[in-house]
Amino acid sequence: MNPPPHSRRPVCPRCLRPQPTCVCALARPTAHRTEVLVLQHPHEQRQAKNSVTLLRLSLARCDVVVGEHFPPEALQALLHRPGRDTRLLYPDVPAAPAPAAAPVTPGAPVRLVVIDATWRKSLRMLLVHPALAALPRLALHTPPPTRYRAIRAARRADQVSTLEATVQALAMLEGPSFDGHPLLDAFGEFVAALASQRRPGH
Ligand SMILES: [Zn+2]
Repeated sequence: MNPPPHSRRPVCPRCLRPQPTCVCALARPTAHRTEVLVLQHPHEQRQAKNSVTLLRLSLARCDVVVGEHFPPEALQALLHRPGRDTRLLYPDVPAAPAPAAAPVTPGAPVRLVVIDATWRKSLRMLLVHPALAALPRLALHTPPPTRYRAIRAARRADQVSTLEATVQALAMLEGPSFDGHPLLDAFGEFVAALASQRRPGH
């Protein structure tokens, strides 16, 4: 039996994307101390425009776990590491108020949890997982201008890509020793490449 045609498309073993859309050349190894855990909604994993692959390839301490519903014990095991404060990168919103928590001590080791999903799906993932909702939050001071505008209509004015939000969070946590600009520039190239492949009317 012949395999379906799409399965014969060569896939890059590192970024797991089809070879013509491989993003490995855009990876920018970026020094950082914070552990990053991305909980990725399955829908995002299949999006060619998703920013998490480039983030994962560029950060040495970045785990990506795909799922929508996580068993409580498995989630607890993912969220916490001895000696690290866990923070959820998420704003304090009326639908899911942030628990009271002391601010992060400057320089303290942090495990940063990031939900990669649309705004609506990320809120749903938060509401169905009490362990996530109970985490102290890290909210971005000022959302950065997104490079995504060309390819993705933001559902909220302040919605940015997961890569951009994570880079800004690392800058807040780690201060001037963290330089995310090369990675943001690479993400700009990624967005420009995607935009140029779009044919008008398709
Ligand atoms: Zn690749």
